[in-house]
Amino acid sequence: MTEEKGPSGSTPEPGADQEIHYCYRCGSLLKHSREWCGTCGADQFYTCRSCGRVFNKALHRCPECGNRRRRSSHRSGISRVSTTPAAAEWFRHNRRTLFYVTAGVLGGILVGAIVKTLASHSGPPNDQGYGITSLMYWLDPFIRAGKTVYRAILGVSRAVLNWIVLLILNNFKTTVLAFLGGVAGFVLAMKDRNRRRRARKHRAHREGGEDAEDTRTEAE
Ligand SMILES: [Zn+2]
Ligand SMILES: [Zn+2]
Repeated sequence: MTEEKGPSGSTPEPGADQEIHYCYRCGSLLKHSREWCGTCGADQFYTCRSCGRVFNKALHRCPECGNRRRRSSHRSGISRVSTTPAAAEWFRHNRRTLFYVTAGVLGGILVGAIVKTLASHSGPPNDQGYGITSLMYWLDPFIRAGKTVYRAILGVSRAVLNWIVLLILNNFKTTVLAFLGGVAGFVLAMKDRNRRRRARKHRAHREGGEDAEDTRTEAE
């Protein structure tokens, strides 16, 4: 029996199961299958992407067409684990899920930052000394953020109101004239509406009771 240490570059052939083979990657004796290493889990054969020839992964190039074998697994240590096709496959399958989870995490961080910033304008964080298990510990920043937003809205509306009051006071005569003009316009509009309504009623009355009106005029 010849000592055949290390990887062998043989191709799978029927009836060759009696030969001793070693894993191309870790060098372990392949006991159960020629195609798979029970020690490191490496598949021993590779199908050429160019011509379809199956050859041992110990070879870097296809013996048929010379095409380079893709995704070399000749790496050592922990990095090999993270670059196994299984891991790559998992990432490919869960790409969408990973995207949404990442987006959710980033969104949570963003909301947290906004709430924290808003809350910081309404007193120091956790100034009541709530424990981490207390509901108030988690609600406190939101309450303080809400206070900040409320104060901001209140401040803005107060400023707008002050501005309107100042505008009126600084242009008092104009404001009074404008108000009187508005009242006059409203009165005229009301009169016009009443006149129109009366005219419509009158027309309807004339169309509906033409005979009655005629008899009345005759009787007069
Ligand atoms: Zn192995
Ligand atoms: Zn090939």
